[in-house]
Amino acid sequence: MMSEREKLIEKLSDYGYIKSEKVRKAMLRVPREEFVQPDKKNYAYLDQPLSIGHGQTISAPHMVAIICEELYLEEGMKVLEIGTGLGYNAAVVAEIIGEKGHLYSVERIESLAMASEENLNRTNHSKNVTVVVGDGTLGYEKEAPYDRIYVTAGAPDMPEPLKKQLKIGGKLLAPVGPSSYTQELILVSRTSKDEFTEKSLCGVAFVPLIGKHGWRR
Ligand code: SAH
Repeated sequence: MMSEREKLIEKLSDYGYIKSEKVRKAMLRVPREEFVQPDKKNYAYLDQPLSIGHGQTISAPHMVAIICEELYLEEGMKVLEIGTGLGYNAAVVAEIIGEKGHLYSVERIESLAMASEENLNRTNHSKNVTVVVGDGTLGYEKEAPYDRIYVTAGAPDMPEPLKKQLKIGGKLLAPVGPSSYTQELILVSRTSKDEFTEKSLCGVAFVPLIGKHGWRR
């Protein structure tokens, strides 16, 4: 019999959100129920965002699939995530980049950062994930440059520091939009030191990115 997780992954593949074998395998390996609040475990395999407290949400599984596919992640990459939440997307990325890769993830709410570390520890993903508390709109200069950067909260504009922390040939994915709950998912590619190309992938609805190069609050 198929598990709830297998059924969800099959649905995401049928709908075309999951395109590659590596994203499919990674999402099959990560137990999403370990990254939701304990009273929401029964909803872990619905394709929905769920509240994680502090007015924040864990992204819907199809959104995690879109992010992982559009980033074209490869084994061994150095990746920066902005907005750890409870760590689900981080765990999926960690599976794809493998032991030789490393994910740095910045979260502004300290209690969420701590809870995500516990979750990632429990599911054995803490070896190649480092959670940092801070304002992710500034990126994480200490480990820059990165092969890939992705933002899981909606920004008013593409945060400049993130573009600067990309390797040449690197990709940056962020929801950008004029109101704090509707955005377009924008993909930036750094083609040379001073040149970037940008394209819009789809309409999305993320919680607001709050910080120096985000929304002020
Ligand atoms: N990647 C998460 C999504 C969590 S929701 C997942 O897998 O489900 C977005 C998160 O971004 C929230 O936890 C919120 O606190 C955080 N956030 C908002 N602004 C931020 C900022 N400037 N720096 C770091 N994290 C931020």
